[in-house]
Amino acid sequence: MRQHFDFAIIGGGIFGVYAALYLARHGQSVCLVEKETALFRKASIVNQARLHSGYHYPRSVATARMSDDNKARFTAEHRDFINAGFEKYYAIDRFGSFTDSQQFERFCNFINIPCERIKTHPLFNFERIEALYKTEEYSFDPILIANFYRRRLEAEKKVTTMLQTAVINAVAGNNRWELSLQRKGEAEIIHITADQAINATYAGSNAVNALFGVEDIPLMHEISEMAFLTAPLLSNIGLTVMDGPFGSLMPYGLSGLLSLSSVIYTHHKVSYANLPAFDCQGQQNTCRPDFLSDCNACPAKPRSNYAKMIAQMRQYFSEEVTFHYFTSFFTIKSKLKANHIDDGRPTEISLLKENPRFYCIFAGKINSIYEIEKAISF
Ligand SMILES: Cc1cc2nc3c(=O)[nH]c(=O)nc-3n(C[C@H](O)[C@H](O)[C@H](O)COP(=O)(O)OP(=O)(O)OC[C@H]3O[C@@H](n4cnc5c(N)ncnc54)[C@H](O)[C@@H]3O)c2cc1C
Repeated sequence: MRQHFDFAIIGGGIFGVYAALYLARHGQSVCLVEKETALFRKASIVNQARLHSGYHYPRSVATARMSDDNKARFTAEHRDFINAGFEKYYAIDRFGSFTDSQQFERFCNFINIPCERIKTHPLFNFERIEALYKTEEYSFDPILIANFYRRRLEAEKKVTTMLQTAVINAVAGNNRWELSLQRKGEAEIIHITADQAINATYAGSNAVNALFGVEDIPLMHEISEMAFLTAPLLSNIGLTVMDGPFGSLMPYGLSGLLSLSSVIYTHHKVSYANLPAFDCQGQQNTCRPDFLSDCNACPAKPRSNYAKMIAQMRQYFSEEVTFHYFTSFFTIKSKLKANHIDDGRPTEISLLKENPRFYCIFAGKINSIYEIEKAISF
């Protein structure tokens, strides 16, 4: 007997899990398939945790607007996991920025987000900073949010979660998907059917699209490092330096740690192929371009660039500020090639097949989970 579901969702990050809960709330039965030993192991926890208000995207008004559109609802629905109690600054670097202070102010006015120019501040180094702005931007706590959604999923009877499981074949027949699933290390093939299927695998998007007979999305991929540290004088401060090869430091939710990223040093290796292909995949057999492993558990992951990231970011602060490195997380960051120039991060939810339906969610921002409600029909 094949078990039948209204939806099969592949990928158990925040987008797959949110889609499963949303559909279950509307009476739909869901099979959620995740290849790792646990949900929320990849981009949904390895990120800067910035609850985007739009400031980060002076070259992509569309992304800026989408960030701001979703912010109020995301904040209200995740209130216990949001850090709104720190000062968030954006700075324009004096050297090599793609955006100058006038453009940044015009952009903020245009999309109607507050920015107050700060002329002096004891903790910042104005020899490197052309202009400093106090803004209104929060961070969310990815670990607390993951726990929150895990608990909700456990209580949801209409969702069957299958961990350490991969889809190995997908065939369209009788207006439904016939899927063959296999658990890691087991020979048995599990057969299920689903009226609709959703690919929510982010860096795995093209591999899963291919299984469903759908063309590649033009993507590029980077092995990315988020460094975590403490800096006693900055525990209540976040800084993003705009706009180009700079960096960002801000509270990682409510953890007491700061997350640090750098446009130059966060990204260790780049793959311009539609499937994420990296030379480290040759060093062990559990990670392939079409079936990525968890970089954090991988012995072939790159050496940390934390010292370079700190050295870069230190330049924007006064000398009394000290940094204490704690740890780093790694994951694959995937981007639409089309956004290489404007640096935009749209969330695209595309209906790629009809009869039966197949959707692909390619997410650019965590607070855009609500786009699922607009795009998925049942
Ligand atoms: C370094 C970095 C910094 C970021 N900073 C921010 C930020 O500050 N603010 C923000 O809003 N967004 C940020 N983002 C973007 C945000 O993290 C992503 O848009 C979001 O997490 C994507 O969620 P997801 O559920 O689609 O993907 P993921 O969380 O990656 O989940 C995909 C899941 O699919 C599983 N999977 C993959 N292939 C298969 C398969 N074949 N079979 C079964 N399961 C599979 C994976 O194991 C994983 O669990 C950042 C991203 C990165 C990488």
